Amino acid sequence: MKKIIAVDGPAGAGKSTVSKIVAARLGYTYIDTGAMYRAVALKVLLTKKSVEDVTRDIEIKLDEAGKIFLDGRDVTKEIRTPEVSRGASDVAKFGIVRKKLTELQREMAAHGSVIMDGRDIGTQVLPNADLKIFLTASVEERARRRFEELKEKNFSADFEQIKKEISLRDKQDSEREIAPLAQAEDAILLDSTALSIEQVVEEILRLAR
Ligand code: C5P
Repeated sequence: MKKIIAVDGPAGAGKSTVSKIVAARLGYTYIDTGAMYRAVALKVLLTKKSVEDVTRDIEIKLDEAGKIFLDGRDVTKEIRTPEVSRGASDVAKFGIVRKKLTELQREMAAHGSVIMDGRDIGTQVLPNADLKIFLTASVEERARRRFEELKEKNFSADFEQIKKEISLRDKQDSEREIAPLAQAEDAILLDSTALSIEQVVEEILRLAR
């Protein structure tokens, strides 16, 4: 039977990391909706066209391996810069962008079992999901994880700067008028501040069963 899991929460809470593992263990398809907003932002940055023009003429595809294609080009790595993160939160305020991506996301979830992560999946995109998780962690912990991740990849990183950027993006995502970041009434709150990745995965698997 087709099953749907929705995972929402603020930036850096570990949504994509745990969703990918849960998808692999359950044999579901993982859909990263943040990557889709990032792709729109990247096209705006590259073309310098308006958000409206870009949205009217864009092709976004996610493949089984989790790669993202913008107008046929693999942009999986390119969308992970701080500039694109900020840009994604900016384009995500536009009704035209949300309408287009929401339709695409619903279509992607229409066929097999999926786990989809984002900000408005449980509230707007898939309100009838079988299981809704709101995954969060303290802003210090989320910034710390991001800082460690960058250090591991040998990128220079400033903890306070990362914390500032995460807080700003959360504020912008929570306060926007259309489909803000919010916990659905029927979502289960999971605070991962003191939990390992495996503990969060186990808890979602337990709830899914
Ligand atoms: O999840 P990720 O950090 O990749 O998302 C990038 C940005 O895309 C978020 O900060 C948010 O503004 C936007 N987004 C959204 N709705 C979603 C997924 C992401 O508004 N469902």
